[in-house]
Formats: sequence, structure tokens, C-alpha cells
Amino acid sequence: MFNRNTKKKTRFSDFLSGEYARDYINQDTPYPEQIERAAKLIRQADYVLIGAGAGMSTAAGAEYGEKFFEENFAEFQQVYGKGPYMQDMYSAGFYPFPDQESKWGLWSHLALLAGADLDVTPLHKTLLNALAGKKLFLLSTNADHQFEKAGLPAEQIFQTQGSYHLIQCKRGCHPRTYNAVELFRQMERARQNGKIPGELVPRCPVCGGDMAMNLRVDNFFVEDENWHAAEERFSRFLSACIDGKTVLLELGVGFNTPTIIRFPFEKLTREHENLNLVRLSRSKAMVPASLGERAVGINADMAQSIRDIAAKLKEADKA
Ligand SMILES: [Zn+2]
Repeated sequence: MFNRNTKKKTRFSDFLSGEYARDYINQDTPYPEQIERAAKLIRQADYVLIGAGAGMSTAAGAEYGEKFFEENFAEFQQVYGKGPYMQDMYSAGFYPFPDQESKWGLWSHLALLAGADLDVTPLHKTLLNALAGKKLFLLSTNADHQFEKAGLPAEQIFQTQGSYHLIQCKRGCHPRTYNAVELFRQMERARQNGKIPGELVPRCPVCGGDMAMNLRVDNFFVEDENWHAAEERFSRFLSACIDGKTVLLELGVGFNTPTIIRFPFEKLTREHENLNLVRLSRSKAMVPASLGERAVGINADMAQSIRDIAAKLKEADKA
């Protein structure tokens, strides 16, 4: 007999999937009906595993380019020109800085704006309120801590791609990260013409080399003790929820890094009949046709979809 106690726990590395669905469809169900179905699936679930991508922060109001960038990075546009890099926060981070003083001049500013000082949590709070009473866990590729700020306990969050609060050895020579928010604030105060003074440049305490943000941009990304502890909790949650009534609630995940949330969610739903997939995205909410009624994909303004689903759940609570 199959013994549940010996069941292998699903690790994050086994969860990841590169399998592209070949039967994607944009469901043509009318919007109100889709909201109804999504709310119904969530209402019936005991577990909700949220998978959040960049689209969630954007839907909640986070800005990275255009007017916001012009207003907040004018100093850097003056030093470096507006060229291909100084257009938005994402591109700016990749500028080939001439020295560490310049690199940290920009990155401290960027990390504060995109992380510690970012507060777009009203939408996150609306969602968390609507999910009250569910067993919840968040798998997120965002580095901006917005769900945590909105009140979701850190123990229920696995932020796989790093954090705007943390720095690490650039070469990943030792498996530790360092909270740099206060250092970033000092840099912010001391910066002139895009540069910070040399004495504020962080150095690796082990090899003496350069430091970098703890963001997964190359193979030197450090998965520290906290990362592994979060991975362990995620794995435990996953092992429990695949045996229960579960909704995989995917928020704003496109095709930039589909192997971390999008494809794995499809695979899990395919393999477990008790799992349902609710996918919200402005324009990438296509779902595999083979999942039939167990998948709801809503292509719409995601902030609105979240508010509408939350309202539906509330209605049902009262009834
Ligand atoms: Zn080092």
C-alpha cells in the first residue's frame, strides 16, 4: 500500500517546470461570469497558493519608467545622458558604471524606490482580506516585499529572486546576505552627481571584493539561510496543498521567467485533479484548454479583477 508518511516532499527544484503548454486559449467567457467562477473556486478552497509576478506590483501602482523615471532619476540622466539605459529603473541598473561609487550611487537610490520606500499595498491588502481564513502561501518573483508590507507574515512568503533590501558578495564567495537599507539611506544623503563617497562603498567581508544586490541576475546569486528556510516552508505547504482543495492563484506572471510560477502551476493543475488554477493578467492570461473548467484565465485590468473577486467573496460571506 502507498504510505502517505513516506511520500516524498516536493522541493522547489522539482516544482520548477520548463514545459510550455501547446494548447493555450484565451477563454471567451464573459468577464462577470469569469469573476463569478474564480470567486467560486476560491470560496471552495482550503488552500490558496499565490504566485505573484511583476504584473502584480504594476497593477498595484508601482512605477518604473517614463514620467516616474524622469522625475526621480534626473540627476543620473544628467550624468549619463538619456541613452538606452536611463529610461526606466530596470534598464538603469544595467548601466556599465565606471566605478563602485557610481554603481552604488544609482543602486542605493533605485533599491530604496523599488523596495523599502515603495508602498503600493492597498491592492495587496484587498486581496489578503478577501482570502482571510484560507491557508495561504506566497511564491513571488518580486523583490519588493509588498505582500509582507501588506501584512502577510514573512513565514508564508518565498521570494525566490532576491530582495531590494539585501546585498551580497558579487562573486557569491560565501552564502550570506546583508541588509543594506540603512546603508542605502546614508548613500542617498551623501550622493553628489550620481556618486557616493568612497568610504560608503561596501566590500565583501570575506574576499574583500565588490558587493552586489542580492537579485538573481547571474549565476552568483546567493541563496542564504533565510532563502533556504523559506524554500523549506514552501515545500511543506506544497506537499500539504496538493492533497487538499487548492487554488493556485497566479497574479501578473507573464513569459519573462515562466519556469518559476507559470509553467509549474499549469503542470501541478494538470497532475492533480483537486487543484484549480486562477490566472489574472492584463494580457497574458491564456490557459491550457486541456484544464477545462479547472482553469480560469482573466485578461483584464488586474487591479479591477482582484477588487471584483474580493467583492464577490464578500457577498458570499454575507449570504
Ligand atoms: Zn566575497
